[in-house]
Amino acid sequence: MADDPLPQRRTCATMALHHRLLDTSPPYVEARDRIEDQAFRIEHGARVVERPGCTLIPVVVHVIWNSAEHNISRGQIDGQIEVLNRDFRMRNADLADVPEVFAPIAADARIRFALADTDPDGDPTDGIVRVRSTRADFDSGDAIKSDAAGGSSPWPTDRYLNIWVGRLRGGLLGYAQFPGGPAATDGVVVTTSAFGTTGTATAPFDRGRTATHEVGHWLDLRHIWGDDGDGCSGSDFVADTPNQGGPNYGVPTFPTISCSNGPNGDMFMNYLDDAAMVMFTAGQVARMQAALTGPRAALGSTVDCNDPEAGAYRVRDTDPPGSGDN
Ligand SMILES: [Zn+2]
Repeated sequence: MADDPLPQRRTCATMALHHRLLDTSPPYVEARDRIEDQAFRIEHGARVVERPGCTLIPVVVHVIWNSAEHNISRGQIDGQIEVLNRDFRMRNADLADVPEVFAPIAADARIRFALADTDPDGDPTDGIVRVRSTRADFDSGDAIKSDAAGGSSPWPTDRYLNIWVGRLRGGLLGYAQFPGGPAATDGVVVTTSAFGTTGTATAPFDRGRTATHEVGHWLDLRHIWGDDGDGCSGSDFVADTPNQGGPNYGVPTFPTISCSNGPNGDMFMNYLDDAAMVMFTAGQVARMQAALTGPRAALGSTVDCNDPEAGAYRVRDTDPPGSGDN
């Protein structure tokens, strides 16, 4: 079977899943109301209850493959975890590309990620589940998240960030489920050609940023342009991101003006736009931290941000998450 051509533009189905759940799951509607109320108060100046220090989140990566070249290597997975650790700690080298006017707003999300070293039964694991599927590819319908449908069912979503890597059709790069949704489908999906930086990762989506963007959604971040097409009335409910028309793609130049947001224009270099993807803002970090003390409070453990291994992706073998350094 021929591979679908990669899209020229970034495509994310997070809002499609969001609307599907709003239409089908009354508990999701209620949970989202509560979460957005809290986020609204934070956007309008309420103090965020934040976790102290950094939060270490155990990750399980489900690799769903049909032909052997899509059974990606451990090295490719490690490379993706490393990108997440740089991006969520403001240690990415391309942070230097942020225009001077936006640099003071860039913020450290204080989140670390590590492949889980303990499985749901308490046994040692490498944090990777490999499933040979009879399905050649998947869409945003969530079959990839189910053993019965040819994918792989999640590990407990209140203890692990589940990331599914498989071939998505139709040029879809990935999608995430916002907090407040059903446990059976909670997590992040990334297509094989946009995961990590090596192996099957293919330019221009070979910088690991699809996962950064989708994990941002999983921690409750909205698209920076407000998901109203090219209009100026939609919002990401974050005060320090400029109001912006539609998404930006490719390599925009500064300033890119829309919705009367001059002189500085769109923050097209934000991870939640679709272009340069090098920074979160302080307001976005507040929203993610609110998710970590709210709907995702059970997840992860507190660790010392100044630990010399704070940017490392490996959890020390003899020292499970949260056991000694908080
Ligand atoms: Zn998105």
